Amino acid sequence: MDFALSYEQKAIKATAKKFAETEFTKEIVQECDRKELFPRDLWRKACEVGLVGVFIPEAYGGPGLGYLEDCLVNEEFWRVDPGVGKACQTTVFGSEMLILFGSEEQKKKWLPPLVQGEAISGTAITEPDAGTDVTSVRTKAVRDGDEYVINGNKIFITNGTIANYIDVLCKTNPEAESRHAQFSFIMVETDREGFEAKKLRNKLGIRASDTGDLYFTDVRVPKENLIGTEAGGFKQFMFFLNHTRLHICAEAVGLAQGALDQAIKFVQTRQSFGKPLASFQVTEFKIAEMATRIEASRTLYQKAAWTVDRGKVEPHIISMAKWFAGETAMKVAEESLQLHGGYGFVGEYDIERFYRAAKIVEIYEGTKEAQKMVIAKRILK
Ligand SMILES: Cc1cc2nc3c(=O)[nH]c(=O)nc-3n(C[C@H](O)[C@H](O)[C@H](O)COP(=O)(O)OP(=O)(O)OC[C@H]3O[C@@H](n4cnc5c(N)ncnc54)[C@H](O)[C@@H]3O)c2cc1C
Repeated sequence: MDFALSYEQKAIKATAKKFAETEFTKEIVQECDRKELFPRDLWRKACEVGLVGVFIPEAYGGPGLGYLEDCLVNEEFWRVDPGVGKACQTTVFGSEMLILFGSEEQKKKWLPPLVQGEAISGTAITEPDAGTDVTSVRTKAVRDGDEYVINGNKIFITNGTIANYIDVLCKTNPEAESRHAQFSFIMVETDREGFEAKKLRNKLGIRASDTGDLYFTDVRVPKENLIGTEAGGFKQFMFFLNHTRLHICAEAVGLAQGALDQAIKFVQTRQSFGKPLASFQVTEFKIAEMATRIEASRTLYQKAAWTVDRGKVEPHIISMAKWFAGETAMKVAEESLQLHGGYGFVGEYDIERFYRAAKIVEIYEGTKEAQKMVIAKRILK
């Protein structure tokens, strides 16, 4: 058994740390948060230094590393700023589906532009009446000759208004007896006629990351845009989630680590009753608890990612890691803000932004309740 990161893993972690600490300046992260701006220049720079989509195979222009390495980058980015970190890293969202289920032709066409900073992708599942219950998806794709004709509406889609192509979960086989056999993934290029995206504003956090509502009105795409098999979409989605949830674990741990870093700095300088806050035992206990939760979350998600990179997927371990890391992010952000007192509440310190961002990691890619359903199903079966 060996818990140490390899030389290459330490190197990519150090590169990501240096990049985030140098490039995610206070001015940029605050402006992107306040104005809800996607940091396009920063994202391109991150692509140039090879920090975007590091799990994309070399055959398709990527560095060909694993999900664990991608998690290390995510963690370092979120540690400095969750909003800009998310925006720069998630531009390849959906590439996981292509890698797992796409044809050779599809991979060659859609993967290289993502690592070269020439295109952005997305994945659209959620609808106004279909969130946790994915089988309630109603967006339809009907075959018409050599094309699919898509009609429907998706909501809360990351990169919705900036993506060049989006992998869309559609109902293609409504006649199938099993609800799980009614769906397929179809890639939709966003410049197609009948596609519309509206930016969602005033999110609680990660405001630098674009989120949009999508509308499909008789959008025609060639049948070659089907990803994987027709009617196999639901199963593909479940497998895809076992990969993409790892990114969220790393986001949560990065956010928590950043919040702890800020708390440590603050309590060592802020004086109360003539002494630094750090000298009170209650503060020591808080710092000890935060650090322990982070260490446990990191160990759990790294084990999950390590396992996935060895071709073994254990959904319940991934769900444990996501639920626990999400809770850690929430608890640590809350405790760190509390230690900042009023200063934490008024936006002068970064912790206010971290606190607002923390909630999302307990919601997207499956809520914390959904994770517990996966864990319990496995344990009780
Ligand atoms: C910023 C942001 C970005 C996102 N990006 C994307 C994206 O790129 N692509 C995409 O497809 N979606 C995306 N989402 C959507 C996200 O994945 C969903 O919001 C999430 O899956 C929850 O679905 P819902 O909002 O419909 O909540 P619901 O499913 O309606 O759940 C509401 C509450 O009920 C609970 N609940 C539901 N069912 C059960 C049950 N059976 N038992 C117990 N509790 C239950 C949930 O846990 C939750 O607490 C994004 C959301 C946000 C906010």
